[in-house]
Amino acid sequence: MSLLAEPQSSAVTVRAAAKINLHLGVGPVRADGFHPLQTIYQAIGLYDDVTVTDGEDWSVRTVGDSGIDLTAVPGDDTNIAVRAGLALAAHHGLAQTAHIEIHKGIPVAGGMAGGSADAAATLVALDRLWGLETSDEELLAIAATLGSDVPFALIGGTAIGSGRGELVTPVPDATELWWIVVPHEIGLPTPGVYRHFDVLAERGVVTAADPVVPDALLDALAAGEPAAVAAALSNDLAAAAYDLRPDLVELRARLDALGADAVLLSGSGPTHLVMYDDVDRARAGAAELTDAGVLHWLAPAPVAGCHVVSLL
Ligand code: ATP
Repeated sequence: MSLLAEPQSSAVTVRAAAKINLHLGVGPVRADGFHPLQTIYQAIGLYDDVTVTDGEDWSVRTVGDSGIDLTAVPGDDTNIAVRAGLALAAHHGLAQTAHIEIHKGIPVAGGMAGGSADAAATLVALDRLWGLETSDEELLAIAATLGSDVPFALIGGTAIGSGRGELVTPVPDATELWWIVVPHEIGLPTPGVYRHFDVLAERGVVTAADPVVPDALLDALAAGEPAAVAAALSNDLAAAAYDLRPDLVELRARLDALGADAVLLSGSGPTHLVMYDDVDRARAGAAELTDAGVLHWLAPAPVAGCHVVSLL
């Protein structure tokens, strides 16, 4: 039997952060097509805000900050935010529908899990709108069915991700970092990068060994030692992404020349991340990019996961 829950509010807005992978260890492709991962996620201060209101049918509208290209974001039921709403309603046996407004500050298809952030924010927002009081365990389980990065988007902070990335364990992080996020106008679809990783692994160009979480990085985070964090950053997908897109190698060289603490490709790319342990140096680096006409955002990390910012 399908039920309707009594709305507890008229509008709920939940904020969700972008993620980066401080470490991305990728193993050999499995029979089901997925790659086993061992990753260390960190939530950084670029945000999508998701507002849900009662609606007679499912609908979604997306607006964006300046510099955010919304072309690839679906306006129909294939939007992952709507899929999240459907999954929450199904979990509780509800026939409820809603209107979802997404305000994007996270670059689309940039390897920063913006869609996953929207899905996580929608779960939390609808849970509040409908007064469901879904437990954290249930929300994490529903999140994992929506995508590998969705559970981390719920919890934020810094965490180990294993399995396909969906099994998350928070870890201590005493760092206070600043990241310059440098998007690229030409997206790099994640599945293609994984396929190319497999090709390079077959050719022996990269090694697809069983992935592990590096103790050196966990220790550096727990101790709050940015130099040791910088030395331990790694991304197994970087070789595949750069091989597919030589133009990214040129951009990388420009970013290396800033003299920051580290430069890292974000997930499957094409976004780059430039790390600083000091906000003044980060601002100076960002000013250099502004002068050179390179689009970028400056974000602190780590930051919190999904949280309610408005409840009407
Ligand atoms: P992935 O999770 O594949 O690594 P990503 O982090 O690089 O993705 P996203 O911004 O999450 O990038 O978008 C990936 C794709 O998901 C987009 O190209 C788009 O077609 C689709 N998509 C569905 N819903 C959304 C949404 N709410 N926001 C952004 N993209 C969405």
